Amino acid sequence: MAGKKRRVRVAHELPKTRRLAIKKALQEHESEDRPDWDRSSEWGVTRFLRKRIKPGEMRTIMLPLLDVDMGDSWPIPVTVFHGVRPGPVVTIIGGTHGDELTGPSACTNLLSSIFTGPEGALDPNTMAGTVRIVPVLNLPGYRAKSRYFPDGRDLNRAFPGKPKGNTTSRVASVVKKRLIVDSDVIIDLHSAAVGRSNMPQIRGDLSHPESNILAKAFGIEVVLDSRPPKGSLRRVANELDIAAVTYEGGGANLLDQSAVKVAVHGCLNVLRALKVIPKNPSRPRFRLNAGGSTWLRAGEGGLLDMFVSPGSVVEKGDVVATISDPGSPGLSVDIVAPEDGLMICTATNPFVTAGTPVGHFLPISKHIELLRTQINERGVLIVNGSQGDAIWREDGDEMVEIDVKGEWSGGSVDAEWNPINADETEQEEADS
Ligand SMILES: [Zn+2]
Repeated sequence: MAGKKRRVRVAHELPKTRRLAIKKALQEHESEDRPDWDRSSEWGVTRFLRKRIKPGEMRTIMLPLLDVDMGDSWPIPVTVFHGVRPGPVVTIIGGTHGDELTGPSACTNLLSSIFTGPEGALDPNTMAGTVRIVPVLNLPGYRAKSRYFPDGRDLNRAFPGKPKGNTTSRVASVVKKRLIVDSDVIIDLHSAAVGRSNMPQIRGDLSHPESNILAKAFGIEVVLDSRPPKGSLRRVANELDIAAVTYEGGGANLLDQSAVKVAVHGCLNVLRALKVIPKNPSRPRFRLNAGGSTWLRAGEGGLLDMFVSPGSVVEKGDVVATISDPGSPGLSVDIVAPEDGLMICTATNPFVTAGTPVGHFLPISKHIELLRTQINERGVLIVNGSQGDAIWREDGDEMVEIDVKGEWSGGSVDAEWNPINADETEQEEADS
C-alpha cells in the first residue's frame, strides 16, 4: 500500500446488547479507583510458598499440586521474577491441558537466558512487579501426553475446585489458592484440542474491563469476545475481578513454532503495556473483535482434504476442502467459503461424517482488502509477532478496529467441535 495514511471507518457490528455491555463496563471502569502501583511505595522481599525472593531476583520453586504426606504430590516448577520496583503480579501459565504444547514451549522460551540474562527483556533487575511463569501446569498429563489429569478429568473445567473433592478438583483448589487469587493479570496459553488447529487468537470477556485491556495489550489481530467456560481458570479469575485471557495457537501434540513466537511476543507485549518491563508494546495494524462466527461443515461423509490452513484469508466461493469416500470411487464433494473471511480454526482429522465441523470462520466483508495486504504466499494472515519483533504499526497510525457480528453457535467459541472438546463449551446457564 502507498505510504499515505488512510483512515478507515470503524464498523460496529458486535451484537448491540454486547456492545452496550462492553461500553458500560469500560465507562464504569474509568470512574473507578484502580491500583496504580505507586512507584514510590515500599517494595521488598516477596514470598512464594514461604520461599523468599528478593527484589531483582529470579527463583524457581516447586509447587506441589496435591497436599499430601505420602504418595506423589505432583510438584511443578514455578519461576518467579521479582522486580526492583512496585508493580502488578502477572502469572503466565502453559500446559493446563497436558497435550497442548504451545504454552510449555513459549514459557520455556521466555525462561531462556536470552530473556532472563543481563539486558534480557525479563532481567528482574530492570523489572517492576512480579512475574510468575508456569511452563506446564498439568505436568502429570504432559508426561502421559494427555489433555487430562490422571483421574481422567479436565482441570479447565474443575475450578474453583474443592480441597476434599476429587483429585482434579483438589488440584484446581491448590492452583486457585497459590497462583490465581494473588495475581493481577493471568495469561493462560492453549492450543486447539485434538483434531483441529487454531490460528493465533486471544479470547477474553470484553465486558470485563481489565480483561478487555489485557486482550488488546497482547497485540494480535484476532480477539474473540467470549465469556469464560464454566469451571475454567479464566472464569474463576474473572469472578475474582482478576484480568485473564486465553491465548490459543496451534493444535494438540504439535509444536507450531509460529504460534509459539506469537505467544512469546504477546506475553512481552502485555508486560510492556503494564510497564513491568521497558519498551513500548507492538500493536497490530488492525484488530478483529469477534462476537460470533460461521461454521463450515461436511455435507457428506468420507475423507476430508483441507486446502486451507488456520489463518487463511478466503474469498466467497473458494473451495476450502473436498470430501471423497473410498466406498464411492469417482465421487467427491467440495466445501466452499460462504462469504469472504478468515479461517480461525480448521480440522486436522480427515475422518468426517455429514455435519462434522471442518472449519471455523469469521465472515469479514468490508475489510477483506485490508486483511489481504497482510498475507503470505499461501494466503495465510501474517500475525503480529509471528516474525519475531516485526512491528506492523508505526507510531501515530490509526489502528483499524473491525467488529465481527454474530453469536457463538452453541453458546461458546468451540461449542460446535466434537464432544471430546465439550469441556471448552459453556454450559447454558439458567440465569443467562
Ligand atoms: Zn486447552
